[in-house]
Amino acid sequence: MSVAQDAAGRLLTEYCRSQGRETPAVEAARLLSRIRVCKARWANRDTASSALRLLGNAAIDVDDLAENHLGVTLSVECLERFDRYSGAPVYGVARPNSRHVTVCTRALKYEPLYRATIAHELGHTVLHQRDSGLHAYSPQSPHRPSIESEADEFMTAILLPDPVFHLSLAFVAHFHRIDIREIGSRADSNRGREQWRRYLLPFCVNSLCVSRHLVCVWALKRGFVNRETLAYHLTYAMPNRWLDPSSSYSRSACEWQVDWNESVRRISKPGLMEA
Ligand SMILES: [Zn+2]
Repeated sequence: MSVAQDAAGRLLTEYCRSQGRETPAVEAARLLSRIRVCKARWANRDTASSALRLLGNAAIDVDDLAENHLGVTLSVECLERFDRYSGAPVYGVARPNSRHVTVCTRALKYEPLYRATIAHELGHTVLHQRDSGLHAYSPQSPHRPSIESEADEFMTAILLPDPVFHLSLAFVAHFHRIDIREIGSRADSNRGREQWRRYLLPFCVNSLCVSRHLVCVWALKRGFVNRETLAYHLTYAMPNRWLDPSSSYSRSACEWQVDWNESVRRISKPGLMEA
């Protein structure tokens, strides 16, 4: 485990303990240890409800974490003036020694981007406290020093802890009656790509409030997908609940949400849970 992952894990433990609960990662790991697969479906039908409930509450409140737990001041303003220095859009700026994070108004339009920006900048605040400089979050920038990778690792550990992703993977395989070996180990095959596109990525984006880019980079670093598959998953439009209502995808996003709500209802019907 890297220094950044370790720091993020400790922070989440302290934060959740202050609320009298365990971290989503600990809860997910415990549930995973109890899952018994039976003909590609979980043998215990209550486990699916527990997994769905856990994953629906796994997204940490990053505003509360920043302001009330870490004492970091958050503000919002247009940061477009920084774009020309980084060569790409800047979504956030951190000043670690004054414990101040500014989020660009552009990041407010997509909740997964807003959360990623806060989590990344908190990474600088926690890991680079002695640095009196100013850090800009610009993921597409051609110039990204090593401290940016550290802040990215911190961000990913806050937003998508490994056990939470593993439980998402197991739940999607169970729910859609997919062989978990196929969706997990053969994600680069055409069939695997289709399963990630249709089931896994929409589930992660909608229930964990993380961007598809973050999930795919996570999957690349852990060897689930190769670079070609990562690039493939960034080519298509993917309706989801966090898209701006004025966007061109809003109609299909709403339709997808209806399907999702229906899925949640269906899961409580015992007949569909039989192995
Ligand atoms: Zn940064």
